[in-house]
Amino acid sequence: MRLLSIELSGFKSFAKKTTLEFGSAITSVVGPNGSGKSNVAESFRFVLGEQSMKSMRGKRGEDMIWNGSGSVPRAGRAGVKLVFDNTDRALNLDFDEVAIERVVHRDGNNEYLLNGSQVRLRDISELLSRANIGASGHHIISQGEADRALSASSRERREMLEDALGLTTYLYKREEAEKKLEKTAENMREVESLRRELSPHLKFLNAQVKKIEDAHVLREELFERYTDYLSREHIYLRLARAELGEGKELEDEHTTLDHRITQLRKELEKKHDAGSDELMALEREGRETAHAREAAVRELGGIEGELRALERMQGDGPALPAREARDFAESILSLAEGSKISELISLARSFIQKLSVSSGVHSRAELLEKKQVLESQLKDLQEKEEHVAGEVSVLRKKIEGEKDASREAERELFAAMARRSELEGARMALRAREDALKLEEERFKEELREAAILLERVPDYEQETMFEDEPRSAQEERRRKLERQKIRLEEAGLGNSAEILKEHQETTERDQFLLRELADLETSAQSLRLLIEDLTATLEERFVGGVEKINAEFDAFFKLMFGGGSASLQVVKETKLRRGVSEEGSEDMDVEEGVEISVTLPHKRIKGLHMLSGGERALTSIALIFAMSQVNPPPFLILDETDAALDEANSRRYGDMIETLAKKSQLILITHNRETMSRASVLYGVTMGSDGVSKLLSVKFEEAVAVAK
Ligand code: ATP
Repeated sequence: MRLLSIELSGFKSFAKKTTLEFGSAITSVVGPNGSGKSNVAESFRFVLGEQSMKSMRGKRGEDMIWNGSGSVPRAGRAGVKLVFDNTDRALNLDFDEVAIERVVHRDGNNEYLLNGSQVRLRDISELLSRANIGASGHHIISQGEADRALSASSRERREMLEDALGLTTYLYKREEAEKKLEKTAENMREVESLRRELSPHLKFLNAQVKKIEDAHVLREELFERYTDYLSREHIYLRLARAELGEGKELEDEHTTLDHRITQLRKELEKKHDAGSDELMALEREGRETAHAREAAVRELGGIEGELRALERMQGDGPALPAREARDFAESILSLAEGSKISELISLARSFIQKLSVSSGVHSRAELLEKKQVLESQLKDLQEKEEHVAGEVSVLRKKIEGEKDASREAERELFAAMARRSELEGARMALRAREDALKLEEERFKEELREAAILLERVPDYEQETMFEDEPRSAQEERRRKLERQKIRLEEAGLGNSAEILKEHQETTERDQFLLRELADLETSAQSLRLLIEDLTATLEERFVGGVEKINAEFDAFFKLMFGGGSASLQVVKETKLRRGVSEEGSEDMDVEEGVEISVTLPHKRIKGLHMLSGGERALTSIALIFAMSQVNPPPFLILDETDAALDEANSRRYGDMIETLAKKSQLILITHNRETMSRASVLYGVTMGSDGVSKLLSVKFEEAVAVAK
């Protein structure tokens, strides 16, 4: 990997685009004070990603941009482009040439470009650190910074050494691993907290699921019981129904009996009615005939009385006219009444009555004729009466006979009625049984329905099981037990169990997921810890080994510069109290490793760096810088007037060392030193005119000496 060129445009005093090409191992930049040489060194820092403006003698990004002069207006941006030959692929990019570019704008915004494509600063830093161009800039020694290695703190010195030893990549990796570990730990805390949050709900759900499982066991038991109970009940109902079927005969018999009874009743009624009506009519006829006969007798008696009266009054003479007879009779009556003889009075009255009855004048002949008629009538009536009486007696006999026949029918009727009421009793009992059975069947259906809902399936009650005979009360006992168990099951509340089970499964899965996540995180944390341990071990090993090698070189360079004495680096451990100490105290101590320098000068009793002169400090620094560069040569090394404080003898030694270094690293030397200039193969002169713009020109050694003045 070789540095090909650097191009400055608008960077500090380089208002115009200026390109320095580095065709050889040693390039010197010379020029008078204030011409802009150091700006060249700083342009390297800038393009390599330096973030500290202070180290580039600025306060903010804008200070890097050409600020204008009387004749040249200020620029809007400053850009520096560094081009490497990458044919050896030291930069991990598949390009033969790699151009790294940084641009800063007036608003302070920075752009980084890799072969023209915009990238992040981090991409540049990583790319470079792999090629041993670290961020600490140990390979760019700015003006007056030669003794930076000496004035730095032991911690900073360590960083410088780590960088110089090319350990930055490992440091980056370790830092990254530590960040990842911290992030992992944070994730673990988050996951743990999520699990903690989940825990009470999960506990609750576990308890619910336990309840549900218990309820399932209960339900299984209930299912068994139901199956047993319902099977028995089914058989019982089937038998009961069959028994009731036999009641049909009863019904038939009842119907037949009913018909027979009606029939018998009708028969009996008819017989009874017919005989008695006829008898009654006959008897009435008898009575009427008797009355008629009595009336005829009485009338006949009257006629006979009249006839006798006629005979007494006139013998055979004509009868008195009726008018006279009455008058006569009434005079007799008044006489009789006067006599007050009651017999006489009644006789007179009866005579008047008879007179009235015969009304009119009846001749004897008429009376006789009438008598004859009456006597004939009477005879007829007597005959009729006798005839009717005979018929009545015949009818009565007939009725008596029929009554005997009816008695049979009556007996049958009574027997039928008795049987019927017996049947009705049985029928009522049967109907009651039927009703009860219907209720039982209804209940069975209801129980089956309930069981199906509760058990979520229909118990198989139709299986052909043989059951021993048992009293009905055994089933009732079973039913009671079922009821109790049903209540227990209902209390267990299997209602929303599907939801709970689903939620439980989801929550458990989530918890398991978190647990796996935690395990994964722990695994990756573990491998990160191992990686960190590994990197730390590698770093430690390389660092200690590197420091050892540097020490050897350091001591050698030091001896060369000072013509004797010795110099060495010591790795020291400083124990510092970490901020935010916890009660445990000691565990929060941070062990920081640093590097101390100790030197002994020939013929001098010098202890401690602070006792060195300026020149001695510069020499010591140079020895250290050169030692570091020797052990792990950077691709290029920029030394800005590092040789400023050297006397002639030391300048020569410096020149020798430079030539040694140039075998491994490209050197860019900003110098006023003649000796140094003489070692360079390419020389650039920097000048600045009245326009304040730095200008670059290639010069020969003699010109360079002149330009530098
Ligand atoms: P010396 O030999 O004395 O160390 P030098 O050659 O290293 O000098 P520099 O320090 O590189 O000189 O140059 C400083 C010059 O650059 C100053 O004149 C300063 O005004 C000029 N300069 C610095 N920043 C800007 C800027 N942003 N715009 C214009 N000029 C600038």
